[in-house]
Amino acid sequence: MSYDVVILGGGSGGFACALRATSLGLSVALIEADKVGGTCLHRGCIPTKALLHAGEVADSARHAGDFGVSATFNSIDMNGVNAYKDGVISRLYKGLSGLIKAHGVTYVEGWGKLVSPNTVEVNGVQYTGKNVVLATGSYAKTLPGLDIDGQRVITSDQALKMDYVPKSAIVLGGGVIGCEFASVWKSFGADVTIIEGLPRLIALEDETSSKQLERAFRKRKIEFEVGSKYQSHTVNADSVTVNLENGKSFTAEILLVAVGRGPVSAGIGYEEQGITMDRGYVLVDNKCRTNVPGVWAVGDLIPTLQLAHVGFQEGILVAEEIAGLNPRPINYDGVPRVTYSEPEVASVGLSTATAKERGYDVEEISYDLAGNGKSQILKTAGSIKLVQQKGGPVLGIHMVGARVGELIGEAQVIYNWEANAQDVAPFVHAHPTMNEAMGEAFLALAGKPLHAHG
Ligand SMILES: Cc1cc2nc3c(=O)[nH]c(=O)nc-3n(C[C@H](O)[C@H](O)[C@H](O)COP(=O)(O)OP(=O)(O)OC[C@H]3O[C@@H](n4cnc5c(N)ncnc54)[C@H](O)[C@@H]3O)c2cc1C
Repeated sequence: MSYDVVILGGGSGGFACALRATSLGLSVALIEADKVGGTCLHRGCIPTKALLHAGEVADSARHAGDFGVSATFNSIDMNGVNAYKDGVISRLYKGLSGLIKAHGVTYVEGWGKLVSPNTVEVNGVQYTGKNVVLATGSYAKTLPGLDIDGQRVITSDQALKMDYVPKSAIVLGGGVIGCEFASVWKSFGADVTIIEGLPRLIALEDETSSKQLERAFRKRKIEFEVGSKYQSHTVNADSVTVNLENGKSFTAEILLVAVGRGPVSAGIGYEEQGITMDRGYVLVDNKCRTNVPGVWAVGDLIPTLQLAHVGFQEGILVAEEIAGLNPRPINYDGVPRVTYSEPEVASVGLSTATAKERGYDVEEISYDLAGNGKSQILKTAGSIKLVQQKGGPVLGIHMVGARVGELIGEAQVIYNWEANAQDVAPFVHAHPTMNEAMGEAFLALAGKPLHAHG
């Protein structure tokens, strides 16, 4: 069977490519071994955010008295939480499956292998494409000697299916996924300790965001050890003990290994077809072309930011390039990044350190959410930090606080439009909203602060 585009993997990158390609009149076969929607829908973004929302509801009940509301937090019913979470997934899955069908995509269930540069074989049937898009995604990595048993030592895959709240948890890895699970479990009532080898939590974010998240986690009594490396662990009858290189050890009911994700690229024929790879990642140019003509790669499989919206955009880019629309390459600095813990962390553009490394003469201001009415109403703390090229455009926007993930839309437009503070300061922001804090930050950066202290 032959198509304009054969796509291997139906996650964020693969299905976005399929939908855009068919809408441009191309014939598409989409091959998926498990379920369309991939990691994000079934084991990533959506289930974690449902758990985080359940955690927020639990915290609201717990702290209702702070707002003069009489309520008692009793317990977490994980069956109820999972039913809610799975309900969200299944509605979205149904919707997505319907979209794929409505677009006329040929959906092939099964494990596929690249058997020639333009052919993928599934269950003995060959699907040939003028173009082949590799979108096989990623898996949860572990460390040497740290075996995942699925019971005491788990990854996010098992953590999302747990039918109980652990009394205590060690989270190995203080990146986005680790911090989100630490936040959920704390909200659900567990004692949580994060162990991070780098000197700070969410180390890819601006240093001030890490510091503020650490402060907030300390206040929430989420323990963490940064700059500490895993050495060994022992699984006991009803607990697991982790020993660190610095001699410290921690014991908890479960150990979540959240040390990053690796590309799914082994044994699928990529090497045999001569595709250039580095540590398992498929290498591509700025239009997601591999070194083999007609073969493209998108999503977590390539060494760009491992985010669903990056996969979507890469999938769309490839479809448009194949259709001859000559789309603009993606500016990865302009991709919004959100950690959905309590509090949330959101950013776009460059950190202060990166901006300096790139030779910019940097100016920065930080607007404290203490001056923002809605933040006071919500009882959240944090800030919006702006990094600007002196006399030039905004280079980075970094936020910490409840719900700041919802502010990233405006931040990303400002950054990607290369706006100056003077361009943004005149925009009127609704009062009282969290969004108003963005307006206030830009007023301050433009030299005319309103509700700003110090
Ligand atoms: C716990 C967690 C939370 C996350 N939260 C967020 C978030 O909040 N926001 C965000 O933007 N991102 C988040 N992510 C990241 C996001 O899930 C990924 O970036 C995204 O899913 C990558 O899409 P993809 O299409 O590259 O790969 P995947 O979604 O992994 O899809 C790849 C698909 O290919 C299939 N496949 C693999 N090999 C074969 C084969 N040989 N034959 C057939 N099919 C095959 C797999 O079954 C899979 O369905 C999270 C990830 C995790 C693990």
